[in-house]
Amino acid sequence: MTERRCKQIFAKLSEFLDGELAAKDCRQLERHLEGCPPCVAYLESLKATVEACRKYQAPKGPDLSKQVRAALLAALTPPASPKRRMSRWKKSLSRPASR
Ligand SMILES: [Zn+2]
Repeated sequence: MTERRCKQIFAKLSEFLDGELAAKDCRQLERHLEGCPPCVAYLESLKATVEACRKYQAPKGPDLSKQVRAALLAALTPPASPKRRMSRWKKSLSRPASR
């Protein structure tokens, strides 16, 4: 079940992760997350995406944009089990980039 408020939360999550969200909005967001597992799962995938992008930004190569796009897609696809997806994430992150 996706509430309309979830869309507002989603829109604020990236600001929340960057620490740019106002304290008032932060509290509102955290309160919503307490009662909304889908939003928590989304926040986790967004976190992983942000971290992945930071890692991928360090070395530059022609295949990077493809990898980042694939990683983004994987992170944004709603999974059956967030935990399983996280372990898949770690695997793909530790794998060296193919040339
Ligand atoms: Zn929600």
